[in-house]
Amino acid sequence: MTPEPAPSLRQLLAFYLDAGVDCALNDEPMNRLLDEEIVAPARAEVRDAPPRDEARRAPVPPPAPRPGAAPPSPDAAIVSAREAAATAPTLDALRALMEQFEGCALRSTATRLVFADGNPQARLMLVGEAPGRDEDIEGRPFVGRSGKLLDLMLAAIGLDRSKVYIANVIPWRPPGNRTPTPQEIQICLPFIQRQVELVNPDIVMTLGNPATQTLLQTREGIMKSRGRWTDYNTGTRTIRAIATFHPAYLLRSPAYKRMTWMDLRAVAQALDSSADKAAS
Ligand code: URA
Repeated sequence: MTPEPAPSLRQLLAFYLDAGVDCALNDEPMNRLLDEEIVAPARAEVRDAPPRDEARRAPVPPPAPRPGAAPPSPDAAIVSAREAAATAPTLDALRALMEQFEGCALRSTATRLVFADGNPQARLMLVGEAPGRDEDIEGRPFVGRSGKLLDLMLAAIGLDRSKVYIANVIPWRPPGNRTPTPQEIQICLPFIQRQVELVNPDIVMTLGNPATQTLLQTREGIMKSRGRWTDYNTGTRTIRAIATFHPAYLLRSPAYKRMTWMDLRAVAQALDSSADKAAS
């Protein structure tokens, strides 16, 4: 039997794209300095190099921290995220300090921070899980396929992005859209909590299980938690909160759109009645 010819680079790339691989990263960082095959020749080169002259032996200042250098320990990162978030007096300040925050390794693999979209004065705030590929490219949450469905869901109750505020629990895209680790979630949590506090909406709606469990601090799955009103405490105020299915889940399981419609109706009614109360 004639062996199949080896695939061309183009064919391999097409295969990777079809398989959903769109960035060349491992799930875990790899310390290449532990690889003797790489390190030994470099060590020999240094050992065998001719002695350098006096001038070049002058003390070398320690290197400045490189972008992408090892982040602080997760515990230290959680503490520094909490401290930083608490000091942000405005959304702009919060965004600026998140742009600079080095405690979450996702920042170094993502293209950019995906902070928020919509109206910071909105009475409804939606919170998703984490940006995907399209959001990472554009820097705005929910702009891909699930974002298009989210826009339709909002339109069904007479809303659009000028009337809601949208953010994610995790503001940087996890490589290859992998699930964020519990540590990454804990590091990013103070930022979304502060964002909710600063936006100060009448209602928070979480989209999908991870955002619901993280922000609303429940262990229940989305099948149970969705559609049920609960209180979200910002520390300074209690906000009504409700969960529904994530639009990406609805794309895969359209049968759940019926329940999502009920959740959206509940939100629309709550918005109407709080507007009536404010007017009277
Ligand atoms: N899914 C999310 O949870 N958030 C986005 O921004 C996009 C997809």
